[in-house]
Amino acid sequence: MSDLSETDRVRVLAKSALFDPPAVVLADGRRDLVGMDRTELGAEMAAIGEPAFRVKQLWHWIYHQGVTDFARMSSIARPLQVRLAEKFVIGRPSVATEQTSVDSTRKFLFRFRDGQEAETVYIPDPVEDRGAVCISSQVGCTLSCRFCHTGTQTLVRNLGAPEIVGQFMAARDSYGEWPSPKGETPRLLSTIVLMGMGEPLYNYVNVAKAMKIVMDGEGIGLSRRRITLSTSGVVPMMDRAGAELGVNLAVSLHAVTDELRDEIVPLNRKYPIAELMAACRRYPGSSNARRITFEYIMLKGVNDSEAEARELVRLIAGMPAKVNLIPFNPWPGSKYEPSGKAALERFAGIVMAAGFAAPIRTPRGSDILAACGQLRTESRRERAGA
Ligand code: SAH
Ligand code: SF4
Repeated sequence: MSDLSETDRVRVLAKSALFDPPAVVLADGRRDLVGMDRTELGAEMAAIGEPAFRVKQLWHWIYHQGVTDFARMSSIARPLQVRLAEKFVIGRPSVATEQTSVDSTRKFLFRFRDGQEAETVYIPDPVEDRGAVCISSQVGCTLSCRFCHTGTQTLVRNLGAPEIVGQFMAARDSYGEWPSPKGETPRLLSTIVLMGMGEPLYNYVNVAKAMKIVMDGEGIGLSRRRITLSTSGVVPMMDRAGAELGVNLAVSLHAVTDELRDEIVPLNRKYPIAELMAACRRYPGSSNARRITFEYIMLKGVNDSEAEARELVRLIAGMPAKVNLIPFNPWPGSKYEPSGKAALERFAGIVMAAGFAAPIRTPRGSDILAACGQLRTESRRERAGA
């Protein structure tokens, strides 16, 4: 169990409630069914006098088949299709920008009903015929990590479950990745990483609801092993996520001393390295098959020394872990530089010699990506006419 008090846990949840997303009712009064859980969907059906089995039917069409038009729901009689369409929609975020890189990475800027935007990226696996969808959990981020462009954005709100699930579904739409009439199941978009804009554990309620929807076996049906949640270290919520969702965990460590981490990941002042490591060690289901990923952004002359590599190894000793070394992606106004190749390789060598996998993450889609959070800033600038 967490060393942190229940009050602390409540405080994290209360804080996130301040940034709640707008309700999902359209201007014409229709409600969006996407993002509702089975209980909510059941209540909507009961309210229009429909039996409980409609939930199962709708769930199949919405989440398994990816249908957005009630008229395509062939197991539902025409008059009911019409009535459903009068009261509900099956929504998607709209595509503000979509760019595909020469290396096939595809980046979307999705716009939600209130005009807010967030980024989603599809990253194909270079070897296998599949890939991961990197999803945002918030518009902006309240946490201001020094190297992160998202952290510089002031406007912040949580994304709702419909908007989180909606990013994945809209990305699948873009690839036509829903079961074909022949019954072939989608393969390309079969993994989710919660590593886009925002801190997922500061929006736990909406993220958890969305992940339960995508894990539901009668719909999208992703196993929890195909989902990775990345956190900068919201310790009290890590226990809860582990117990309730059991997804893979990635931790944005980035520094091995509290002194440096306090500066570059300011959340460390609240949950220092020792507490973070203790939370990782008790994260459920960690085994060799389900290692915790430690993300470590390589900043030239800041955190990339051999001594720091050795300290990193000491911190994670005995844990089923791997280390992702991330070359820093500079953005205009950032004060850091990426580590050189030699420093990267030296650092990786020390971590690997201690028995941990330490891949250097190759920058993907660098011709379109720029740094995390940048696309949204560009779009806001253009819309403001700047
Ligand atoms: N808030 C969560 C998840 C989103 S950030 C977290 O911090 O874990 C996901 C990852 O993006 C982080 O590991 C961070 O290291 C990386 N990132 C942020 N800014 C970056 C930059 N300028 N270059 C490279 N990676 C960056
Ligand atoms: Fe927020 Fe993660 Fe960026 Fe830090 S790295 S500011 S927690 S999105």
